[in-house]
Amino acid sequence: MSDVQEDLRPAARGAVSLDVVVVGAGLAGLYALYRLRKLGLKARAFEAGSGVGGTWFWNRYPGARCDVESLEYSYAFDDDLQQEWHWPERYGTQPEILRYINHVADRFDLRKDVQLDTRVTSAEFDPASGRWTLRTDRDDVISAPFCIMATGNLSTPRVPDFAGIHDFKGKWYHSGLWPHEGVDFTGLRVGVIGTGSSGVQMIPLIAQQASQLYVFQRTANFSLPARNGEMDPEKERTHKAEYPARRAAAWETPFAIAGHPAPTKSALDVPEAERNAQYEAKWAEGGSISFLYSYTDLLVNKEANDTASEFVRNKIRGIVKDQRTAELLAPKDHPIGTKRLCLDTNYYETYNRDNVTLVDVRSAPIERITPTGVRTGGVDYEVDAIVFATGFDAMTGALREIDIRTGNGPTLAEKWEYGPLTYLGLMVAGFPNMFIITGPGSPSVKTQMIAAIQQHMDWIADCLETMRAKGMKRIEPRAEAERDWVHHVNEVADSTLYPLANSWYLGSNIPGKPRVFMPYVGGFAGYAKRCAAVAENGYEGFVMGR
Ligand code: FAD
Ligand code: NAP
Repeated sequence: MSDVQEDLRPAARGAVSLDVVVVGAGLAGLYALYRLRKLGLKARAFEAGSGVGGTWFWNRYPGARCDVESLEYSYAFDDDLQQEWHWPERYGTQPEILRYINHVADRFDLRKDVQLDTRVTSAEFDPASGRWTLRTDRDDVISAPFCIMATGNLSTPRVPDFAGIHDFKGKWYHSGLWPHEGVDFTGLRVGVIGTGSSGVQMIPLIAQQASQLYVFQRTANFSLPARNGEMDPEKERTHKAEYPARRAAAWETPFAIAGHPAPTKSALDVPEAERNAQYEAKWAEGGSISFLYSYTDLLVNKEANDTASEFVRNKIRGIVKDQRTAELLAPKDHPIGTKRLCLDTNYYETYNRDNVTLVDVRSAPIERITPTGVRTGGVDYEVDAIVFATGFDAMTGALREIDIRTGNGPTLAEKWEYGPLTYLGLMVAGFPNMFIITGPGSPSVKTQMIAAIQQHMDWIADCLETMRAKGMKRIEPRAEAERDWVHHVNEVADSTLYPLANSWYLGSNIPGKPRVFMPYVGGFAGYAKRCAAVAENGYEGFVMGR
């Protein structure tokens, strides 16, 4: 490299000085920029991807779409935006959601403050200067008193460490790192490993192209029909007419989703025939919240949950013609709703196709990837392509990948060795002035995420404004407040059926990851009120300093 080129390296130009540095430019990072700019703060987002959109930029697999209706799963901060945007379908497809996010970036002129193709590799807080210094894989050095981690909960794709994977002669893909040009599986023998939400969405579409599809299933998941379809113009009109009220109503619910009256009865207080009629109506309506809202106790009482779980198992037995396959697909190891409930279009029906074979890798785990396929139970399944729908190092993965440290204390990864510790999912004791949007310990993935993102960022923006007004320069949680919050998060989870499932909520999809329940399942409404009360009480549980 010549001297001239050397001088052009960002590090050689000195640190970029900002008021707030944002990591990530998904829905959270973009909204952070919008709010920070409104406060008159100089902020910039650094994004590893070559485009904005986060989840919706990376996950381009066939069938990728949201599982919360698009009229709900969208930003609420600008009424003109929500009035003007037209969602063509009940559940937006990945390309449609990405188009929407790009529209938001343009409409609010956010792009000029986003640096793409840049991965933040380290973040260090200097207690003396009270500033964070972030470094990137492009040699940028960024200095700012405040740092906002908008790095996402499901942004660290994980391919299991299968022996032989690098010897595979065909092509392999991960759902969360899908090629932008798409993949044509026409006429190919394909293996899909994983039957979570991503697998369930892609399997019916890949089956239509592939000559043969093998689905390698370790755990059967419950899936409900999405009943997707074109947007009903009347529904869109009334929804838009009521938008502000609906958004406000969503904030009063556990999942931040309006339009589903809270249940009033226990599943065990109604006769079986009435109960099944109720489940039948919810099955016909489509959607997961509606189904789980059939009764008050489906997520807290195993006996109550059994009624709903068995209803869905019977549906699977009714749809899938081969009864051995049906039994394998019918989940029996966890209560419905305790792993992310999938929404599908023709998922179970797909197993009636002649070119689709379900392979049980629970009883016979995958032994290795061979040069020509997948070996399990001593059988070689020959394939031309493998799709890993194997999920993510969820909730903590993206943060742990950054070397986050402060003074001489432990790094964030060290502090979280036995599980994530946060206060309200927003901040970490010992890491001043670093905010997390929907961090572990917040309702995050148990809600309509865009509402959670807005709630978090609004709280952060109010906090920054308060600090400025009071001349405060530094904020971090008290260790006791953090400890009590983590205790509360666990206590609430333990009062539900969630811990009965081996799920990514508990980190159980990652070998060696501590088994700690990470999202807060006490409900969005209560959480948002608690955050507001904390602020009203002078940022109770936080220490502020000059
Ligand atoms: P992300 O969208 O994950 O964005 C984080 C960004 O940070 C990424 O672009 C990443 O590249 C970047 N980043 C991470 N680390 C670094 C680093 N070190 N340096 C630079 N950049 C970095 N939620 C719902 O509520 N409803 C749904 O229907 C729904 N469907 C989903 C479907 C899929 C396939 C997946 C994977 C998730 C889904 N989710 C859904 C959850 C979804 O992640 C959130 O709704 C939302 O998109 C999260 O936005 P975010 O900005 O917080 O995070
Ligand atoms: P996931 O739910 O974690 O599913 C991963 C799948 O891979 C599971 O079936 C898992 O089996 C399997 N698997 C992992 N390691 C394996 C191994 N070594 N051998 C065999 N099988 C293995 O991941 P995901 O489907 O990508 O979904 C993650 C989350 O993203 C969802 O829960 C949801 O929140 C979100 N998402 C939403 C949508 C949507 O509908 N809008 C779509 C996609 C994703 P086990 O269960 O046994 O671990």
